[in-house]
Amino acid sequence: MQMRVLVLGAGFGGLELTTRLSDELGDDVEVVLIDRADSFVFGFSKLDVMFGRTVAAAVRHPYRDVVKPGVRFVQTTVRSIDAATRSVETDAGRFDADVMVVALGADLDPGATPGLVEGGHEFYTVEGAFATRRVLEEFAGGRVIVGVTSTPFKCPPAPSETALLVHDYLTARGLRDASEVSLVMPLPVPIPPSPDASAALIAAFAERNIDWYPNQLVRALDPGRKTVSLADGTEMPYDLFLGVPVHRAPSVVQESDLCVDGWIPVNPLTLETSFPGVYAVGDVTSVGTPKAGVFAEGQAAVVAEEIIAQHRGRSDADAYDGRGICYLEFGDDQVARVEVTFQSGKAPAGRFEGPSGVYAADKSEFGSSRIRRWFAREWTSH
Ligand SMILES: Cc1cc2nc3c(=O)[nH]c(=O)nc-3n(C[C@H](O)[C@H](O)[C@H](O)COP(=O)(O)OP(=O)(O)OC[C@H]3O[C@@H](n4cnc5c(N)ncnc54)[C@H](O)[C@@H]3O)c2cc1C
Repeated sequence: MQMRVLVLGAGFGGLELTTRLSDELGDDVEVVLIDRADSFVFGFSKLDVMFGRTVAAAVRHPYRDVVKPGVRFVQTTVRSIDAATRSVETDAGRFDADVMVVALGADLDPGATPGLVEGGHEFYTVEGAFATRRVLEEFAGGRVIVGVTSTPFKCPPAPSETALLVHDYLTARGLRDASEVSLVMPLPVPIPPSPDASAALIAAFAERNIDWYPNQLVRALDPGRKTVSLADGTEMPYDLFLGVPVHRAPSVVQESDLCVDGWIPVNPLTLETSFPGVYAVGDVTSVGTPKAGVFAEGQAAVVAEEIIAQHRGRSDADAYDGRGICYLEFGDDQVARVEVTFQSGKAPAGRFEGPSGVYAADKSEFGSSRIRRWFAREWTSH
């Protein structure tokens, strides 16, 4: 009988996994890929739309284009997961499989931070980032705070990139002299595994007069008084608050047997959960890598290799190496590259290069190459 694989979530991890299975095994396996959304959007595209560098329509990649041998995409919401039987209930009925891979990412909960919905703007959801474009267009200058409300949070460099891009944006609109830009983050340095990247970012903040508040979290906003409260009790006045909301595993994961302390624990080398035939990759796990697409992708590759090996009756799949490459926006079309490796039991190590225009082109190719492989078409308009 054909092996049946159920992939929950068509984000970075789910798309990479199904592409690899299809490329290697084609119609020899039956893959069902489920997502509630109708399209995929890269995290970095959220910033591109927000800062007016492109338009929303150019960064949505519709799933109807996923036409791959052996893969069936179903747009529906997963309502419950039974890990023991490798089955799920969805709005489109029940699905079960021989192998199940949970790649449902992290959900965002702006309502968990008092005052954020009423008095601020979150830019981590697709809708939130796209709506913030209009907010920025209408902003007449003043005190801007880019702030993180909890840990863990996706793409740890993104708040730093956002502060630098706010600086560029206000400068281009002639509003920078009438504005203050502050960055509030719960980390001691912007990118802890890479001292060089952190030093370059801190220097860039200083050059641009961006006030950097390390080791701090924004706990609440008071929209009436226009102040934010930090975890240590300090208050900061603001005119525009751009926030990173609280992250949680999707409720369907929290309600399942897979979830421990908020996320799915996995074997860091194989991405297996404690249930036979059930794997988890990416932001939904507590594997120990940052919540970023490149790590979800690397983990999906390991699981794909394991499934392919199983199908071929072998047991020689490589272990996960915890390696990822991040591109860092410095503004002014300058991008840096950080290569980081996270391995359990060892201190993370990072290598930093740039910023330069060369890495801006590399970053663009990073996105285009994924769209080419995952969707079998060119992405020319970003
Ligand atoms: C502003 C910003 C910038 C970023 N920049 C970068 C970057 O430059 N590089 C990088 O590597 N990463 C970046 N990231 C992080 C990156 O977007 C995520 O870490 C990555 O998408 C995680 O991949 P994933 O497969 O784990 O989850 P996701 O890509 O989030 O996919 C999860 C999927 O599950 C679906 N889903 C969830 N619940 C259900 C349900 N109940 N039923 C059905 N479907 C469901 C969702 O619709 C989603 O499509 C950025 C993030 C942000 C917010």
